[in-house]
Amino acid sequence: MNSQEYWNPVLETMPLEKLKVLQFKKFKRILNWAYTHSKFHKALYDTAGLTPDDIHSFDDIKKIPKVEKSMMREIQNKDPFPYGDALCVPLEEVSTYRQTSGTTGQPVYQPDTWQDWEWWSECWSFVLWAQGYRPKDRVFIPFGYNIFVAFWAGHYAAEKLGCEVVPGGVLDTQSRILKIQELNATAMMATPTYVLRMADIAKNKMGIDPAELSINKITCAGEPGAGIPSTKKRMEDAWGAKVYDHSGATEIGAWSYECKNQPCGMHVNEAMFLVEIEDINTGEIIEEPGRKGKMIITALDRMAQPCIRFDSKDVIEWDSEVCSCGRSFRLIKGGVIGRADDITKVKGVLLSPTAIEEVVRSIDGLGDEFEVIVDNQGDVDRIKLKVELMPEVTKLSIENTLKDQLRLKTNLGYQIEYYDYGSLPRYEVKAKRFKDLRKKHIEKECRL
Ligand SMILES: [Zn+2]
Repeated sequence: MNSQEYWNPVLETMPLEKLKVLQFKKFKRILNWAYTHSKFHKALYDTAGLTPDDIHSFDDIKKIPKVEKSMMREIQNKDPFPYGDALCVPLEEVSTYRQTSGTTGQPVYQPDTWQDWEWWSECWSFVLWAQGYRPKDRVFIPFGYNIFVAFWAGHYAAEKLGCEVVPGGVLDTQSRILKIQELNATAMMATPTYVLRMADIAKNKMGIDPAELSINKITCAGEPGAGIPSTKKRMEDAWGAKVYDHSGATEIGAWSYECKNQPCGMHVNEAMFLVEIEDINTGEIIEEPGRKGKMIITALDRMAQPCIRFDSKDVIEWDSEVCSCGRSFRLIKGGVIGRADDITKVKGVLLSPTAIEEVVRSIDGLGDEFEVIVDNQGDVDRIKLKVELMPEVTKLSIENTLKDQLRLKTNLGYQIEYYDYGSLPRYEVKAKRFKDLRKKHIEKECRL
């Protein structure tokens, strides 16, 4: 074992049995902390007839009620303003405000103390070190620094590792590319959508081949793309760089990361988080690899607004493979596969938007952008897929491959519309490529 490979060699190579003991000890500690310092958590556990003293074994953890995002929304603006009564510290100890992006509803406020903020950058240090960031790196962060947590903690972690950080805040995309070129930046962090968008602008608007630039590694977050093989390949080919996946959320923390070995999945940081996978239909906790479910997660060391058995709605599955990097932290296969809300039934078949992305991005004649619209006519569901043809590519040359691959990977038929390259909407941060209009009809009906 080369200890230089790990940010924390003791934790990252700890045998699983020992990790479990550590997780249980930390779980009890955070549960006790929340029970004694937050009215919200005390009421939640009292209603379930449980106290931290009732948790005697790892198995007992699943008795603890889950926390839904909607519950966190309900307590906002209550005392103490604006966070509500899940806050476990006096208001004057809160040093950082962030909020969720609100893509699935009203944003949730997130208070962190200085200690929590240190913890955030420690979580990200595991990520960046495993992806080969070292003090010699010059890291460019093309991110609009604002109220969203996004790459803030990545920024601080890169500094903590000793890298040089270039904050590419208010610059526009062309200025960012020129700055990368001017400074010979070696690494970058961005959403997959923006990684592809930057490459497109460099190539087609500026005549710069991004693969000729000095970026040799890119850390992605915010969307599943870096875990989807065909999207990862597009990004790696465009930039001539390794592209790594990472997953985190405002209310959780940076909980998983792909390592340099690119195992087609992410390691769960099991020293700092407890991840449980729950069967979406039965609620049973899935222990074995190969079965998909939604993630229930506990941040074991986050203090101001604890995250205990949070129902993340992220769909994941354990991988049976052990990574060749030597980390004992388990892998989740293919990263986050999607959101439980997005994985929907169409014509009675489960459809995951990431499966469509995998197909579209694997076909060379198609552009990076696409759009999926699910609708219904009477009782019959329809899926429309809009794709862009690259210049000089004809519909005839790819149509059969596209249809066959879609049928093979998703078991569904599509109405396909072809557009000229550059005509579908472009996104700067997170893309909205999947629209389920059936849900809108239902919402509308409910409101009426
Ligand atoms: Zn690994």
